[in-house]
Amino acid sequence: MHEQSPHDFAHLKPTRSEQLDMLDLGEKDKAMAALLQSDIIKPNIQFILEEFYNALLTYPIFNEIIARGFDLNHLKQVQSKYLETLGVNFSDANYFEERSRIGLTHVRVGVPLHAYLFAYRKLQQLLIQKIPREKLNVSTVESLIAFILKITALDIALAAESYHLGSIQDLQHNLDDLHDRHIQLEHEVGIDYLTGLSNRQRIMVLLDAGIKRSQIEAIPICVIMADLDFFKDVNDTYGHQVGDLVLKATAARIESAVREKDVIGRYGGEEFIIVLIDKSLNQAVDIAERIRTQIEFNPINTHNSTIRMTISLGVAQAHLNDNSDQLIARADAALYRAKNNGRNQIAVDKVDA
Ligand code: GH3
Ligand code: MG
Ligand code: MG
Repeated sequence: MHEQSPHDFAHLKPTRSEQLDMLDLGEKDKAMAALLQSDIIKPNIQFILEEFYNALLTYPIFNEIIARGFDLNHLKQVQSKYLETLGVNFSDANYFEERSRIGLTHVRVGVPLHAYLFAYRKLQQLLIQKIPREKLNVSTVESLIAFILKITALDIALAAESYHLGSIQDLQHNLDDLHDRHIQLEHEVGIDYLTGLSNRQRIMVLLDAGIKRSQIEAIPICVIMADLDFFKDVNDTYGHQVGDLVLKATAARIESAVREKDVIGRYGGEEFIIVLIDKSLNQAVDIAERIRTQIEFNPINTHNSTIRMTISLGVAQAHLNDNSDQLIARADAALYRAKNNGRNQIAVDKVDA
């Protein structure tokens, strides 16, 4: 229902293999990934966790996050799982997904990106510090350092992306809320959110008032009920969104045929009502005919198709003591005949015809 955000950069997102390429991560790094786990993380996980949080907690931002009610022990558990999976099967889709999800979780709990990046730097430092240099040769140590920097850079890239995604999602939610509120407000003031015409409630108030006035002033009042022909096929063929577009375009065509916007209402899905105060039945029929031709001869252009529509209309004039329901029932009965007689035509209420 909601349109895509213009800030959607999804199409610029590199593929998994592009990301691995950019970081020069490949088969050759699998051995380093294993070494990172077996020789650095496993033997030192408690130390790394302690040092990591000690370092973070010297900064106000992290204290503030903890003070918001995050349990430090729980965070340590999460971080420990994070460490135990760092670099494990790094080229798998699952790995990318899981790491992105971690980034998104941090956005949700309110860790600002700069603080998140700072924590990564601390983590890199601790991992490099714990390389068992005494038992490895110089070139392995160098490869391991390079791998630690690359694998954490991958996490940083995925995290930054998650932050971006997170803020877009927030914006989208705000937009959705505004949209819903907009619809609600329009409803409250009597406007149909889709077409901008009067909604059914407002047009009924107008009709009741019009009938009263016509009785007092002894002037005619007429109603046109108009219903698109085979509209369901539009939805079925092109989808609901195009259906909505057709409804908007129909409203615009009716407006241009009637010229006064506030007497036109959206009565139901694809059914419209026009209230004509101080118009004779003949004048109402002329207007109905204008509407019919507006629709028939102005096909509706959508993104990639031109849709030809027709509309059927029933016209009725109020009798002396008609109330709004009776007047609408007359127009409806006429509309029903227009449909039955083959659509794309006008039928006039029998008694008046
Ligand atoms: P007929 O010529 O007999 O009037 O046939 P029809 O297909 O126009 O009438 P039908 O009552 O069978 O179908 C009306 C369709 O209008 C069904 C419903 O899904 C659709 N509709 C109602 N409200 C909306 C709306 O707000 N948007 C869209 N896209 N479709 C709607
Ligand atoms: Mg219809
Ligand atoms: Mg209908």
